[in-house]
Amino acid sequence: MPRGVMPRRPAKTGRHEGRNPRTQNPAPKVQLRQGAKRKADARLPSTLPRKPSTRGAKNGAVAAPRGYDPTSPGRVREILEGLDQLYPNATCALTHTSAWELLVATILSAQSTDVRVNMVAPGLFQKYPSVEDFAKLKPEQLEPEIRSTGFFRNKSKSVVGAAQRIVSEFGGKVPDNMGDLLTLPGVARKTANVVLGTWFQKADGVVVDTHVHRLSRRLELSAEGDPKKIEQDLMRVIPRHHWIGFAHQLIWHGRRLCLARSPKCVDCRLEGLCHAEDKTWTTVDRHKGAKP
Ligand code: SF4
Repeated sequence: MPRGVMPRRPAKTGRHEGRNPRTQNPAPKVQLRQGAKRKADARLPSTLPRKPSTRGAKNGAVAAPRGYDPTSPGRVREILEGLDQLYPNATCALTHTSAWELLVATILSAQSTDVRVNMVAPGLFQKYPSVEDFAKLKPEQLEPEIRSTGFFRNKSKSVVGAAQRIVSEFGGKVPDNMGDLLTLPGVARKTANVVLGTWFQKADGVVVDTHVHRLSRRLELSAEGDPKKIEQDLMRVIPRHHWIGFAHQLIWHGRRLCLARSPKCVDCRLEGLCHAEDKTWTTVDRHKGAKP
């Protein structure tokens, strides 16, 4: 043996003899097998419940099954019960202390928000406390006061015109019937229904505002696009003693969960009953035609 060349000493760890547990155990192999098993498992049919679909509305929508009646009394009752549980005390969000104040607030709320109207109206009624005060105004005088609610020129004409007619034709009192209310400038069925239902507690129709319009269609209670026709459909399928509360509840639901864009279906108690085409989360079929 040449000088200086020493035989290689066995490693203390015994690595060269294959005694190292890391080299001895086919650890990587085991890991591979485990990984492969996981992959194989993934291919097996899962016994877990199917995750609710979150696919895009149009992709998932199907035709409603034959014989399905979205306005059947049983389904309507379930919707009403769900709304009762969600919104047991739903009422009009417009601040008012009289039929006149409610009428004005409802006129101002067109194309605006109740929050905005509630900011504007109290100052208005402080400045002009009675119907007669409004009747004496020229529309231009009212315009700056209600400007922030939008469409202020038309709204000024409507409010002053309604006040003048109420003073001249109805003795200064807001009429409590649909026929007379509809003769007031700026008052159509929606406004009349708000005043009749909320103030006079008369169910002469169903308020159809933008929320009721959208939700009635999503819930397949109406397939119409015209508010008057939607109201007729609702009056046909909703029992009369629910008309007032139902509209308030739909309005609340439309503001809180069933938003125009991206409704919060995952939090919605009506989810299992709703087949709206534009649902954002669903456990049931979406129906073609159940559009907002
Ligand atoms: S499930 Fe969605 S779309 Fe249907 S009513 Fe509820 S929030 Fe609206």
